[in-house]
Amino acid sequence: MSEILYMSSLYAPTLKEDPADAEIASHKLLMRAGMIRKVASGIYAFLPLGMRVLTKIENIVREEMNATGAQEILMPALQPSELWLESGRWDDYGPELMRLNDRHDHGFCLGPTHEELITALVRNELRSYRQLPTTLYQIQTKYRDEIRPRFGLLRSREFIMKDAYSFHANAESLQETYDQMSEAYGIICDRCGLDYRPVEADSGQIGGKVTTEFMALADAGEAELVYCPSCDYAANTEVAECITRPLEYPAEAMEKIATPGVTTIAALAEFLGCSEAATVKALVGKNSKGQVIAVFIPGDHELNELKISRVFEGFELLTDEELKDTGLPKGSIGPVGVPEGIIVAADRSLEDIKRWVVGANEDGFHYVGAAQDEDFKVDVWADLSTTKPGDICPVCGAKLDGARGIEVSQVFQLGDKYSKALGAVFSAEDGTDQPFLMGCYGVGVSRTMAAVVEQHNDENGIIWPASVAPAHVCIIPLTVGDDEVYPTALRLAQTLKENFPDLEIVIDDRDERPGVKFADADLIGWPAQIVVGKRGLKNGTVEVKRRSSGEKTEVKLDSISDGLAFLNRFKQSRTGRTPLVH
Ligand code: ATP
Ligand code: MG
Repeated sequence: MSEILYMSSLYAPTLKEDPADAEIASHKLLMRAGMIRKVASGIYAFLPLGMRVLTKIENIVREEMNATGAQEILMPALQPSELWLESGRWDDYGPELMRLNDRHDHGFCLGPTHEELITALVRNELRSYRQLPTTLYQIQTKYRDEIRPRFGLLRSREFIMKDAYSFHANAESLQETYDQMSEAYGIICDRCGLDYRPVEADSGQIGGKVTTEFMALADAGEAELVYCPSCDYAANTEVAECITRPLEYPAEAMEKIATPGVTTIAALAEFLGCSEAATVKALVGKNSKGQVIAVFIPGDHELNELKISRVFEGFELLTDEELKDTGLPKGSIGPVGVPEGIIVAADRSLEDIKRWVVGANEDGFHYVGAAQDEDFKVDVWADLSTTKPGDICPVCGAKLDGARGIEVSQVFQLGDKYSKALGAVFSAEDGTDQPFLMGCYGVGVSRTMAAVVEQHNDENGIIWPASVAPAHVCIIPLTVGDDEVYPTALRLAQTLKENFPDLEIVIDDRDERPGVKFADADLIGWPAQIVVGKRGLKNGTVEVKRRSSGEKTEVKLDSISDGLAFLNRFKQSRTGRTPLVH
């Protein structure tokens, strides 16, 4: 049972103005509502109200993890370099890893994630198949020296993550835990009031092949998603399979056309009076061996970096200088007559159109009607384009929609990457030693807090879902010095507290004008406000304002619980059966 909070003594310094460096709603509002403060770029302190929200999210995560049978531990943030050298990530992780030396000159890092540490932790003690599966988790501060820390808690350099790691004897067991964790992650999003989508994703630094990201839909999100309006398919455009139908430009034979000053796809399409989808875009890069690759994709699409680097290891685009050395003219590149030694790669969707509109490898000229196999040859066909809204759903064939998302969490099947590298084995049923199969599962706890605000705010401030609100109800006495209004407000707080122990109550006992109190209550975003004033009390009523809709109702003091019933609309627990008021 929590105590009543008094605004007069609450350390919640609200701000009238948006901080100059804040670009998005969650950053502005968490700062203005006195919930967080910036200490340095990408490094924040949580003030009491922010801490209350953070703790609620942590507890939701903790409950859901415990419900899956995972066990909570706490590993150190400070990790010895040896473990990272063993896994190979001391080098692979790059400058995002915060490195430091102790007084004896031993190398350490501040953990951005804990695969190495957990694997080393269990490697000599989790020994038998009989102990598997085992899942351990922690809620802890993580460090990543992000190249562009921004958007407040969304992309910070120090942040709170829940990370879980599971150990298995076989693939079925890993799949089972992965499915359980995915389900728990969906429930966590629901309970935090997030509108989210699980999407197919890339595993990035962590490794492994099977992975799902949980995306809170929001325009401020850095991820681009495509999703199908007619089936469950959804994917990060980093990995989404691209199925698109380029258009065929009407031409009977290859014809060279003077296109003076035309160096972009948009200009070319305009010049020819056709759609960009009827042109072919060229990009030139090299792989890690230095081989030059000319890549062709539909004119209305972008090259997907992840996909191309899977086909050509270490692929990077050539600089203008490097391009000059190849003899290919920027702005007029095509597959016809490509200099010897250059690999021609093309997006597989272009296989369907015989005649292409492409550069003529001569400044100021393009070809229309250049024919595959007759006028040029493609060496490598692959899915190389980034999927976009309007492309075709790879599952059901419908047209995809697009959205932006904030990645709040991700689940991975790691396989034996870390157990092999760090020699973590168990003795199997047949007596042989085998490396564990592992899964890992991360929730961005502090990022989730920001994502909730991105989805729940208006021009006046934050609108917390009751499940993660810093408190549920703010009682606002319009005056505090008198012997009626304030004492009634106080009595109301106490009665509510006695009757509904889980209800968290704040009373704005400050000697401030009503306008100041209303503005702060809206800004901080308590889900319910109860305004106590002289006029209402004459009829024994108070005014209940619902923050989310702004709806105000006169409620008799003795039936106040009816007026607050809307608080129960937000899921309070896994079963959703614990009403705050009844
Ligand atoms: P991103 O692609 O956004 O950089 P990530 O995929 O590298 O994130 P993971 O390694 O999957 O992140 O970490 C698990 C979770 O930790 C993420 O889903 C996200 O919610 C959170 N997280 C990661 N980086 C940050 C950060 N810089 N600031 C706040 N939260 C973060
Ligand atoms: Mg991730």
